[in-house]
Amino acid sequence: MQIRLYNTMTRKLEEFKPITPNHVGYYNCGPTVYWDQHLGNMRTFLNADILKRMLLANGYTVNHVMNYTDVGHLTSDEDTGEDKMEKGAARENISVWEVAAKYIKSCERDMASLNILPPTHAVRATDHIKEQIELLQKLEKMGFTYEIPGDGIYYDTSKFPDYGALGGQNLSELKAGARIENNGKRNITDFALWKFSPRDSKRQMEWDSPWGVGFPGWHLECSAMSMKYLGDHFDIHSGGQEHIKVHHTNEIAQSEPIVGKPWVHYWVHWEWLMLKDGKMAKSSGSFWTVQGLIDKGYDPMTYRYLLLLGHYRQPIVFSFESLDAAATGYKNIIRKVADLMNDKSGDTDQDLYQQWHDKILAPVSDNLKTAEALVVIQDLLKDKTVNNTTKLALFGFIDDLLGLQFIDRATKLHKLESVEAPENVKELAQKRLEAKKSRDFALADSLRSEIDSLGWNVLDSVDGFKLVKKQ
Ligand code: AMP
Ligand code: ZN
Repeated sequence: MQIRLYNTMTRKLEEFKPITPNHVGYYNCGPTVYWDQHLGNMRTFLNADILKRMLLANGYTVNHVMNYTDVGHLTSDEDTGEDKMEKGAARENISVWEVAAKYIKSCERDMASLNILPPTHAVRATDHIKEQIELLQKLEKMGFTYEIPGDGIYYDTSKFPDYGALGGQNLSELKAGARIENNGKRNITDFALWKFSPRDSKRQMEWDSPWGVGFPGWHLECSAMSMKYLGDHFDIHSGGQEHIKVHHTNEIAQSEPIVGKPWVHYWVHWEWLMLKDGKMAKSSGSFWTVQGLIDKGYDPMTYRYLLLLGHYRQPIVFSFESLDAAATGYKNIIRKVADLMNDKSGDTDQDLYQQWHDKILAPVSDNLKTAEALVVIQDLLKDKTVNNTTKLALFGFIDDLLGLQFIDRATKLHKLESVEAPENVKELAQKRLEAKKSRDFALADSLRSEIDSLGWNVLDSVDGFKLVKKQ
């Protein structure tokens, strides 16, 4: 099936053509692990997961790399401010290494709760210091670097004629910025490749290097680790949209002089998750996590469903009202899938299966239009010409593609509904039915409470009532 992706570099929707037939090399920028990942961070990892699942559904093998930034990311992406990891350690009064381990674990837990497939390689910057130093040495030999004494080794962006192409930045405007007071940098856009440790104190994370003791600049890790795990050229690189003008622009500047152009074939960027009054951000202090939603009683799949109702190139404003609406929509589908399980008539109709399979996959393959696929799924549920067995088989495919765990949740519901209620509960339900018929609603309500306290839900049905064991 044809796959199209919006490529930030060309600003066009392009047909996807892999470098190696049937295989995709894919790098998605991962989190800085100094705090729990909020729902916004998770939106980027979930988008990456949908992109990967779409490629898998189209028959590709995918080598998916994601980094954990555990060193070098300063509070400003432009190499100024405090070290985020050291800040996290001070906040919690533990070591930087403990901070990294703690928040890698919480990130993995939340990704698993959202049914995000683990990357083929989830790699830590601190495990790849050697590779980063080697890359820097190559850039140094080629004349791209200079030293700011007492600060670090910097990349001279004026040496790279294509600098800024990804963000459509005008080089002469950027160069004009060089006249601005700039902490010793030759150009305003120059960035650190290696930062020296302060002379008067020891950092918790620091390494020897040919230039002195210190730590790598934040952008270097993604160039070094992608080259190690994906080779010199690979297919897709993605990340949050704020990475276009700085982080990814700098990654390109570090990589293309070494491997040649184009280093990456498709650049994909994710829009943000917003709150009413701005971006959901760790720095704002007001953010929600996936675990926070679970603790409030939400099924994490409702958050996944909410995100898939939008498009990755559009912001989504998060609120509990929209989450509740998504939960209702999600549960409606579960209800219908559980009903299919009550009557698995007929065999899978292969022709119809293939037709609907393609109808569902087509919008997702077309630049990840998941919301359109969800509309097709509603049409499938309504279509009386498709038997239940075929529909259930298609839901197996839908779960592989969208990761919404419909079959799992519907199976649980179906099992609960299949449990026979004990006699005393049935009797109470019968009495409630009679109370309702004689319009004694007060009695009917108190009987409902009694049934509820025994662990059962009583539902009205055409032939009287239905008893469903509570989860
Ligand atoms: P960080 O841990 O701050 O480096 O962020 C990890 C990833 O989450 C980056 O790719 C960011 O672009 C992304 N991110 C941060 N905030 C949001 C947000 N509110 N919505 C979507 N993505 C976000
Ligand atoms: Zn990166």
